[in-house]
Amino acid sequence: MKVLILGVNGFIGSHLSEAILREKDWDVYGLDIGFDKLGNIIDDPRFHFVEGDITINKEWIEYNIKKCDVVFPLVAIATPATYVKNPLKVFHLDFEANLEVIKSAVKYNTRVIFPSTSEVYGMCTDEVFDEDKSNFILGPINKQRWIYSCCKQLLDRVLWAYGFEKNFNFSTFRPYNWLGPKLDSISTTKEGSSRVVTQFIGSILRDEPIKLVNGGHQKRCFLYIDDGIDCLLRIIENKGGVCDKEIINIGNPDNNITIKELAAKIKRIFEQHPLVKSKIVQKKVKIENVSQEKFYGEGYQDVTFRVPSIKKAKALLGWTPKYGTDSALSKTIDYYIKEYVEDKKRCGKDLR
Ligand code: UDP
Repeated sequence: MKVLILGVNGFIGSHLSEAILREKDWDVYGLDIGFDKLGNIIDDPRFHFVEGDITINKEWIEYNIKKCDVVFPLVAIATPATYVKNPLKVFHLDFEANLEVIKSAVKYNTRVIFPSTSEVYGMCTDEVFDEDKSNFILGPINKQRWIYSCCKQLLDRVLWAYGFEKNFNFSTFRPYNWLGPKLDSISTTKEGSSRVVTQFIGSILRDEPIKLVNGGHQKRCFLYIDDGIDCLLRIIENKGGVCDKEIINIGNPDNNITIKELAAKIKRIFEQHPLVKSKIVQKKVKIENVSQEKFYGEGYQDVTFRVPSIKKAKALLGWTPKYGTDSALSKTIDYYIKEYVEDKKRCGKDLR
């Protein structure tokens, strides 16, 4: 099997590549503008990497789409602060660039495994979000936060239409707040520019307070990256064609907590880390409230709760998530504290 991953150096792409090379005999063809998250796999003979941009290296992409069995178009901006500040950037990359990839895959009949998002459900009021039954509820146009959701939704619909009219084969997956090592870069993180878990860990390490938007009463279900990758490997394998033209939620409904609870857990786990307890890393964790207008600006609207139905993933793939919130956070915090220490050592700075 030949798997093409566009955006291979991203959070999902890098973990997926590692897992494929470790657990399968497949080849990975990967493109990205960077390679800092790839570590040793870059030297693996089954890993074929090209440094490049999906908006520029179009011939390489077309050639590899033709050659490969499956393509993951993972290049996208996926941070809410960017949806608010640069909605057109999100449109050009997340929608336009990926539409070209999808059209090329249709041309060569290469299966697409498309990263949709739990954001497509928007402010849906269903207790659990069902891939084939729930309605999508988005805010008005002047709340540009929804451009990401809307771009992904339209690509979901385009793929569905190619399946419906041209019998094109795709599988769409919807991640629900995945977390883990390499989620976002802490050293380059500015307020509001990364996802909540890395935002909080980064704030602690930069001696800034953790900020709870609107008091942090909103809830999310957090899924550890290894659980997500386990599910994706099953989707690629697609035994008996079970995932043909299917849309699949990938999340952990048992890890449903408020953002305030998340902050408290991160504080507790951080303070119990051996490098913190032994005072090698010295940080004081402070938690503050902030209004959404102050944190994100006027174009933001929040999602109060977001719980996946994972009945389909269970039924089709026999998949169930294994990691609870505490173990997922412990692994992630451990990674970032160690990265912080290494970084400081490299720069010859002290650890306070
Ligand atoms: N959030 C927060 N403080 C931060 C970053 C995010 O309170 O520093 C909140 C945000 O308003 C949202 C939730 O945490 O309700 C999850 O945010 P994230 O950026 O991870 O993405 P989302 O789940 O909204 O797509």
